[in-house]
Amino acid sequence: MVRTRIAPSPTGEDLHIGNLYTALLNWTWAHKNNGAFIIRIEDTDRTRLVPGSEERILKTLAAFGLSPDEPFCRQSERLSIYHEYVEQLVDKGHAYYCFCTPERLDAVRKEQMAQKKQPKYDRHCLSLSPQEVKERIERGEPHVIRMKIPEGKTTFHDVIHGDITIDNATIDDTVLLKSDTFPTYHLAVVIDDHLMNITHVIRAEEWIPSTPKHVLLYHMFGWQLPVFVHTPILRNPDKSKLSKRKNPVWSSWYLAEGYLPEAILNYFGLMGWSHPEGKEIFSRDEFVRLFDIKDVHSVGPVFDSAKLTWMNGEYIRMMDAETLSKKIHSFFTDRYAMELIKQVIPLVQERIKTLKEFDAYTSFFLSAPSTYEQDLSAQRDLLTSMVEHLDNLTDWTAQNIGETLEKLAREKGVSNSKLFMALRIAITGKKITPPINESMVILGKAESIARIKTATK
Ligand code: GLU
Repeated sequence: MVRTRIAPSPTGEDLHIGNLYTALLNWTWAHKNNGAFIIRIEDTDRTRLVPGSEERILKTLAAFGLSPDEPFCRQSERLSIYHEYVEQLVDKGHAYYCFCTPERLDAVRKEQMAQKKQPKYDRHCLSLSPQEVKERIERGEPHVIRMKIPEGKTTFHDVIHGDITIDNATIDDTVLLKSDTFPTYHLAVVIDDHLMNITHVIRAEEWIPSTPKHVLLYHMFGWQLPVFVHTPILRNPDKSKLSKRKNPVWSSWYLAEGYLPEAILNYFGLMGWSHPEGKEIFSRDEFVRLFDIKDVHSVGPVFDSAKLTWMNGEYIRMMDAETLSKKIHSFFTDRYAMELIKQVIPLVQERIKTLKEFDAYTSFFLSAPSTYEQDLSAQRDLLTSMVEHLDNLTDWTAQNIGETLEKLAREKGVSNSKLFMALRIAITGKKITPPINESMVILGKAESIARIKTATK
């Protein structure tokens, strides 16, 4: 049975969009194979924990419909398991206690750098006798447990990158258990992936350099390797690594801006993968059906927020009015009455690209403009005539409003565009709005005329 996982660290504001991307691939691969997708909170780096981060990560994943198939777990609650397994490694001679102080390690590193050598732990504590180790632990000396990297080479297969081999001489005797008794990432990830029966480790390419250490640990424990799939890192349009400065990186930012989860996931589906028929818009079910991890390209795909915005607009247009109304209603909580939203949707659905943009087109319904994007002082006569003509209208329909005002334009010898722009500004304050005649029907006759009158003053 296929079992996948993501292991987000609660060390940022929220779920990074790079993690959202790997979450999608893990979720999809598990669901495609009728397997299970798991969330494991990697909270072992106690110095970097951000309060509330875990909660926000889980909330965001749920908002995207990427919920786990089993209750999530936290590594901080599994310490005794890591202790038990790391002891096994010590007993087998694959790991050893180290009592070196940060000052000593620093001095060694500086010395190696000065000699232009690769900085590595010098195995100072490897030769300590078991008796000495025991005494120093009993004396309460701070210590870590390090992995004893064997000689030779380590090779592993990656579905996207093929075989990767590295010389063990380049690997440091990595710390497995820290002095605060928490495991490092390397120890915990291997133990948990094994104990949780993870079959496919699908994670970002930046973890490739760590993988040989993990592979060595699997060998030391005598465990079977999972399938490794290192996915390409998303890039900014200028090909640099996705960073906060060029693109918002927190997943919830996109939700708060009114992007739809389904549009974002569709867009992510196109990162490093293409639809066999070249389609750009496809449902999640279709993605699950067609996706295969072996088809992911290794070249870093560009995350282009302009393209995402376009795609989001396509999703908004595909939605039925009822569903869109509900989404807009909940997006703005109590700002817009459902009644008004339903009236306005037919006027704006073709124009908005995010839920948030609804506000730019619609806020004038809530209150009369307090400023005008264009000066109306030269249009006072024209506006006054509009008031007179509209006042006489008994049947307040978009068509009647339009015909009346077009007639007025002819009488006055002004162009329709000039007249309607003055009207638009008077009613809404803005140059870009939904169709104005229809908007005036929604606003009602009294309010519309009152706004034009205000604009003549
Ligand atoms: N905590 C790591 C991350 O945030 C997990 C890496 C892994 O999946 O092994 O990406």
